[in-house]
Amino acid sequence: MITQIKGLHHITSLASNAQENNDFFTQILGLRRIKKTVNFDRPEVYHLYYGDAVGTPGTVMTYFPFPGLHRGRSGTGAVGTTVFAVPVGALTYWHERLEGMGFEELTQTIRFGETRLGFRGPDGDGFALVEQKDDERSPWTGSDVDGQQAIRGFHSATLRLEDIGPTGALLQFMGFEDQGSENHQKRYRLPGGNGANIIDLQALPDVVPAEEGAGSVHHIAFAVENRHDQQNVRKALVDAGYDVTEVKDRDYFYAVYFQTPGGILFEIATNEPGFDRDETVDHLGKTLMLPRQHTHLRAKLERELPLLRD
Ligand code: ZN
Repeated sequence: MITQIKGLHHITSLASNAQENNDFFTQILGLRRIKKTVNFDRPEVYHLYYGDAVGTPGTVMTYFPFPGLHRGRSGTGAVGTTVFAVPVGALTYWHERLEGMGFEELTQTIRFGETRLGFRGPDGDGFALVEQKDDERSPWTGSDVDGQQAIRGFHSATLRLEDIGPTGALLQFMGFEDQGSENHQKRYRLPGGNGANIIDLQALPDVVPAEEGAGSVHHIAFAVENRHDQQNVRKALVDAGYDVTEVKDRDYFYAVYFQTPGGILFEIATNEPGFDRDETVDHLGKTLMLPRQHTHLRAKLERELPLLRD
């Protein structure tokens, strides 16, 4: 069994409009934009990162905003809900805040004993806020959301699957423990993780597969401390029969990717070197940072990328 995984690292999704996406995460959810860079393979498209003050793994939501991208369709083989943790008692504040900002279809439910507020992002993205007890993580306090209420990072992700069996077995191989079932959902929790330790699997045998587009999660990444641990995790996955990519240098972490049996792309990402590799903590996310191979495109990209106000 794999013992080096520390929880979620980041979740990467697709959007249709960079400014709308930026404003949603910074002005509505109160996260910090920690990096403004571009897609490695499509440098004409932004890669925007949001998280806590320094982009601690387990807090990092990232987006590829492809201008005008058609909306995805929800279904199986995809992440259904990206869930952020807030302190116990904070949901009253968030319900009023989101309602006051014009959000409709807010849902408040209790799942696995935790109160949860569900809502939709600008491209129909499935989000929820959950009151998580004993969360030691410090929030970003540079927004208008008070530190008492602010998002701490990820709580979990809910994966929608035709058959949850093989993905459940994979999560247990990755070190997650079976926490039981409730309403056709099965919960897995990683002991001793970074605070973003839960994956819920939702069994939907009669639902059609999802179609990727704006509002879809592209992949979810799990954290390991360093490249040494990543090599050990990679080897264990390969030995178990998974087709895992070679290590890719993503500037702020090293990444390997593999397809999971339920159709969702998983990544294993290192906590090193981190988002302050090329910017001081004070200035994270302010300047357009370019991957080394694209630095020669700076003038063209600055001219052609959509203007992005803070
Ligand atoms: Zn990733």
